[in-house]
Amino acid sequence: MSLRTFVMCYSLFVISSGCTPKPAEQQFIDDAMRAVGGRDKVVAVRSIVIEGTGVNYNLGQDMKPEAATQQFAITGYKREINAEQGKQRIEQVRTPKFAYFQGPQPQTQIQVLDGDIAFNVGANGAATRLATATAERDRRAELFHHPITALIAATVPLTTVSNVRAVGDVRQADFAFRDRAWTMTIDAAGLPLSISSKSYQPNLGDVVMTTTFADYQDVNGVKLPARISGKVDDFTTYEIQASKQTIDAPVGDITAPAEVIKAAASAPPNVAVTPLGKGVWLLAGQSHHSVLVEFADHLMLIEAPQSEARTLAVIAKAKELVKNKPLTQLVTTHHHFDHTAGMRAAIAEGMTVITQAGNKAWVESMARRPHTMFPDTLAKKATRLEVETVDEEKEITDASNTVMLYHVAGNPHSDTMLMAYIPRDRVLIEVDAFSPGSAVHPYAANLLENIQKRNLRVDKIVPLHGAIAPLAELVKVGGAKGN
Ligand SMILES: [Zn+2]
Repeated sequence: MSLRTFVMCYSLFVISSGCTPKPAEQQFIDDAMRAVGGRDKVVAVRSIVIEGTGVNYNLGQDMKPEAATQQFAITGYKREINAEQGKQRIEQVRTPKFAYFQGPQPQTQIQVLDGDIAFNVGANGAATRLATATAERDRRAELFHHPITALIAATVPLTTVSNVRAVGDVRQADFAFRDRAWTMTIDAAGLPLSISSKSYQPNLGDVVMTTTFADYQDVNGVKLPARISGKVDDFTTYEIQASKQTIDAPVGDITAPAEVIKAAASAPPNVAVTPLGKGVWLLAGQSHHSVLVEFADHLMLIEAPQSEARTLAVIAKAKELVKNKPLTQLVTTHHHFDHTAGMRAAIAEGMTVITQAGNKAWVESMARRPHTMFPDTLAKKATRLEVETVDEEKEITDASNTVMLYHVAGNPHSDTMLMAYIPRDRVLIEVDAFSPGSAVHPYAANLLENIQKRNLRVDKIVPLHGAIAPLAELVKVGGAKGN
């Protein structure tokens, strides 16, 4: 329709209703565009730079499963969005405000999206493509978790806007662009309040990632939110307060290096077997290990870490090592996501989960959560969950072996952590409390204290990160007072 017909149509509409009224979708976009400065201003935006400070939280890595107490202070935050080319780069410095395993020093983080390719740049300058397709997809979605990029996208023919609905005082609409989809919520005046996307997380299953906008300010005639915060379901993951925002300032080079573009997805799991004693094996991995213990009539696995794929590979290796005995017990050292990403696969295998008492409700909730977006083995095979808890200690024993499980009391890494001790071999199995070879050992003194207070005779520490070490190595880093 020509501009003239368009204008006539709208002026006639009032009296004759001879034209189709604006669909709700168009009205939604028009209202949102008007609220943030008008369509012409919005579609002309070439770049946005947001600078500020804030806080990051520690989802899946806090002291207790239900805790949200650990924070990183964020300084030097700079988010550069190249709206013309669909690229984004976030650089920030995070400083732990708690006893962090890598120590108290500030760390620079660089998170980049170049079209479809997402990568991080490490402290040494090396670029690493994100490990999983879902993590990469989340970062692609994140580009549109901003009112301006989302509204620019709405003007592109590839994007669909649908399902406008009123929810109380606000309106929502669903957007879809290629493999990305999001829902925008606007207030009565059209101002975007939030954008959310469905996503998948190996531990949590189906989740909703929500970015909330507040404190809009005028920048060259465009309204930008100065306060932006992110959530995974109800858990707040970050809060940023902008101190300076600019439109159309030049942004740096946001180009994925060749080695990142051709990088394969994460390497297939590799399970390296080291015998630790009679009927006890270390099943080592690239970064996260497990231990297998053979009893007279069954097998116990200590730890199902990292991913479902890793845990399935560990289970297969266990069955290869000891044929004809069922794997019936999984001990989880603590609730952290990197150490429990395979827990659902172990439950699907029929294993009873043995965990510190403070993790019980959390294990039950992890087993129950829906995994419909990418159904895992447990989602495909409904299995009854059995949980056994350990308060301070528990002995698991029969004629062929004994494993003692102890609460690592007072550990600053996790309140609900277990270590395992095999008296016959004088082997102590632990994770995160002491990782031999690390630059810093903030929790080693506590681990040593837990070993000493129970009078355990330990020859070897078998960490589920890093290499086996004699007790002397723990004493060296954890023994001195104030260390
Ligand atoms: Zn941990």
